[in-house]
Amino acid sequence: MKTLKFYNTLTRKKEDLAPIAPPVVTTYSCGPTVYNYAHIGNLRTYVFMDELRRALKYFGYDTKSVMNITDVGHLTSDGDDGEDKMQSAAEKQHKTPEEIANFYSEVFFKDLARLNILLPEIISKATDNISEMIEFVEKLVELGYGYETDDGIYFDISKFSEYGKLSRCNIEDALAGARVAVNAQKRHPADFALWKKAEKNHIMQWASPWGMGYPGWHIECSTMSKKFLGDRFDIHTGGVDHIPIHHENEIAQSEALEGHRVVNLWMHGEFMLVDGGKMSKSLGNVYTIDDLVEKGYSPLAFRYFCLNTHYRNKLNFTFDGLNGAATAYNRLRTLISGCKDAPHASRDVLEKLAAHRVAIEDAVCDDLNFPLALGELWGMVKLPACRELYDTAVKLDDLLGLELHKPLEQKPAADIPENVKAIAEKRFAARQNKNWAESDALRAELDALGYTVLDSKTGYELKKK
Ligand code: AMP
Ligand code: ZN
Repeated sequence: MKTLKFYNTLTRKKEDLAPIAPPVVTTYSCGPTVYNYAHIGNLRTYVFMDELRRALKYFGYDTKSVMNITDVGHLTSDGDDGEDKMQSAAEKQHKTPEEIANFYSEVFFKDLARLNILLPEIISKATDNISEMIEFVEKLVELGYGYETDDGIYFDISKFSEYGKLSRCNIEDALAGARVAVNAQKRHPADFALWKKAEKNHIMQWASPWGMGYPGWHIECSTMSKKFLGDRFDIHTGGVDHIPIHHENEIAQSEALEGHRVVNLWMHGEFMLVDGGKMSKSLGNVYTIDDLVEKGYSPLAFRYFCLNTHYRNKLNFTFDGLNGAATAYNRLRTLISGCKDAPHASRDVLEKLAAHRVAIEDAVCDDLNFPLALGELWGMVKLPACRELYDTAVKLDDLLGLELHKPLEQKPAADIPENVKAIAEKRFAARQNKNWAESDALRAELDALGYTVLDSKTGYELKKK
C-alpha cells in the first residue's frame, strides 16, 4: 500500500497517514448549514472532502466518513451572537425550520451529485442528535468545564489549558480578542455557549435539565463525531474559516470530555475568492452551481477548475478562469474518450503510460496534489492514442471523478464523430506545441475523412466538407 501524506493543521507538518484501525480510515467533515443555497465556495470545500475520500478508497482503505447537516444552532456569528440562521430563514420565508432544512438539503445533495462528490457513509442531522448533545453538555458540567448562566450553559476556556492549540493563539490572545461580553455572567468573554436557553418565541427548542433550549453549534460536531466514530478518529476536515473558533471549540469540548487527543489529523481547505475578494451578497458575486449551469458551464468543468488548484491554496474564481478550465476539461475529455476504439499501444507507449499513471498517483499521495496530477495527465494524453490510455483513464476516474473517458454530450449542431474530434484535438495539441509537421499530417487525415479545420487564436472549428 502506498504511503499517503497529509498536511496536519495541528502540527503544521505533512504527516504519514497511520490509521487507528486499518484498513478503515475514519473521517468527519463539518457539513452545511442548510438555511440557504450552498455557494461555489462552500462546494469547493466539499470537492476537497471528496478528493480526500476518493484518494483513501483508491489506495485501498475503507472509509468510514461522517458529515453532519446543521439544521439548528448555527448563529449568524460563529461566536454566540446573533440569531439562529435556521430560525431567521424560516421567519423570512414564512416556512418552518424543517421545511427550510429539507428544501436546502435537497438542493445541496443535488449539487454534490452533479459534482461527482461521493456521499459520506454516514450523514446525520443535528436535530436527530439532540439528546446525545444534552448528555455531552451534562458531562462537561459534571467535569467542571461547563457552567450555567441565565441564558445558557457555557464552556470555561480557562479550564482547558491547551485552548488555542490549533490556531496557535493562547488563552490570553483569545481573551483579549473576544468582544466585550454581551452576557456579563460569562466568566470570560471568550467562553462559548454549549447550550442556549430559549426565549418563548424561539421556534426550535427542546426540554433539557436547564429548561427549554437549543444546542450551541460547536457541540453538534463534537457529539456527532463521538457518537459515530468514537473517542478517537483519524481525520477531521473543514474550511480554514473554522480553524480559530469552531474547531478550536470542538477540540476543547471533545478533549475535555475524553481526557485525551481525539482527532489525529486536522485538514483544512483554503477559501475560494471571487474576483480577488470575498464573496458577499451585497457585491452580487455569490454564485451557485445552478448559476454556472445557466451560463452554460458543466458542473464537472467546475470540479476540474477546483482540482487544478491545491486545496491549501486560495482559489480565485473568475469567469475567465472558469472558461479556461472548461476549455481544458473539454479538450482532455474529447482526447481521452476518443481513445476508446483506438488500437493497442506499443510496448514503449505502455511503459510511458504506466510511468504517467505512477506519477499521477504519487502526486495525489503527496497531500492530494491534484494540480500536479492533472499536469501529468496532460503529459499522458500526449502519447499516441491507444486503447490502454482509455483504460488507464477509466481506472484513474475513481480518483479524479471527472468522467474524462465519457464522450462529451453532443450539441445537436455538432454531429462530428468521436474519432474525427480526437484527431482534431491531437492536431490542436500539436499546434500548441508548435509541431507543425504533425499538425499538417493530422490536417490531411481530417481532410481524408471529409472534414476541414479552421484555426483561430484560441481554438478551432471543424466543418464537414
Ligand atoms: P456553512 O454552510 O456556512 O457551515 O459552510 C459550509 C462549508 O463551506 C464550511 O466547511 C466552510 O468552511 C466552507 N466555506 C464557506 N465559505 C467558503 C469559501 N468562500 N471558500 C471555501 N469554503 C468555504
Ligand atoms: Zn463542525
